[in-house]
Amino acid sequence: MVQRDRLVQTFLELVQIGSESKNERAVADYVTAKLRGLGYEVKEDRAGDDFGGNAGNVLAYKPGSCEGLSVMFCSHMDTVPPGNNVKPIVDGNIIRTDGTTVLGGDDKAGIAAILEAVTTIEEEKIAHGPIQVIFTVSEEIGLLGAKHVNFDELPKVDAAFLFDSEGKPNEICVASPYHIDLTATFHGKAAHAGLEPENGINAIVMASKAVASMKLGRLDAESCANIGIIEGGRATNIVTPEAVIYGEARSLKKERVDEIIGDMVRCCEEAAKEMGGTVDVKIEESYGAIDLQPDDATVQLAGRAARRIGLEPELVKSGGGTDANVFCGKGIPATNLGVGMTKVHSVEEYLEIDAMEAASAFILAVIEEAKA
Ligand SMILES: [Zn+2]
Repeated sequence: MVQRDRLVQTFLELVQIGSESKNERAVADYVTAKLRGLGYEVKEDRAGDDFGGNAGNVLAYKPGSCEGLSVMFCSHMDTVPPGNNVKPIVDGNIIRTDGTTVLGGDDKAGIAAILEAVTTIEEEKIAHGPIQVIFTVSEEIGLLGAKHVNFDELPKVDAAFLFDSEGKPNEICVASPYHIDLTATFHGKAAHAGLEPENGINAIVMASKAVASMKLGRLDAESCANIGIIEGGRATNIVTPEAVIYGEARSLKKERVDEIIGDMVRCCEEAAKEMGGTVDVKIEESYGAIDLQPDDATVQLAGRAARRIGLEPELVKSGGGTDANVFCGKGIPATNLGVGMTKVHSVEEYLEIDAMEAASAFILAVIEEAKA
């Protein structure tokens, strides 16, 4: 049985350890000590070296004590700012802050739920198949830790469960889109805007024409596109020589997201050509899609585990991207589940203890259901 008081205590300890992205060292040390204490083989990779962080992903493994599917549980250790000096306030079923910081329930609720479950497994000597735990770094600044994980060096994974969503763990994410980023730098020609404007080529106008000709917003039930940032110019009396736009496209289907980005690129090139300028377009796949089928082991296990703890499984789609997208992109069948976080990325963030406790119970249920 999950011990609610201990779970809450772990959560409170975790949120009081500041761990804004790139600064997860203290949380990594905390979880490493806990997992080693439970007999897990724990490694830390060098993910932080890639992007100036002070910690890597924590990768923990325990061989099975009986036959069963190999399961993986994950959450991320970093928080968005303001995430230091968190003063959590417990109020019945709710944990919130004093309103000066985020809570960090995103995603320390996931860490606490996983630690409580694996503690219970050891304490009650529950027989289990192989278990892996991954706590990633710098999820909030582009899923950087997850992108670094090398699954070729880890034991095989049959089903992976991430806890990084609102609601309860019976909300099983089976679909979340591909995400491609676009950066277009338009090059025109500088000239004095008053003395010789006819000798200039205005890059802001070029970028504007490109954006105006793009199809943006919701494009169909599974796809959308956006231009989110436009930069350029130094003075009103200069015909602007350079302007940059930053945008993205998302779709559940790879062909469709490629098609949308292709259209956006064409709009940029046509606008540049029309104005006599040039454009450099950079395209980068930010993360892959979650596209799980109802009969995949992950979905089956999640559904049975939800029922086992008295919740009706719901297969849901998400428009956002999490570490689960990255894992799926690397061939790991990963879903993302609710763990009670609410109003995340704001100082009004709070946590529903019942949902975090349900996530912990859900993990124990997965362990039971995964046995051969
Ligand atoms: Zn998160």
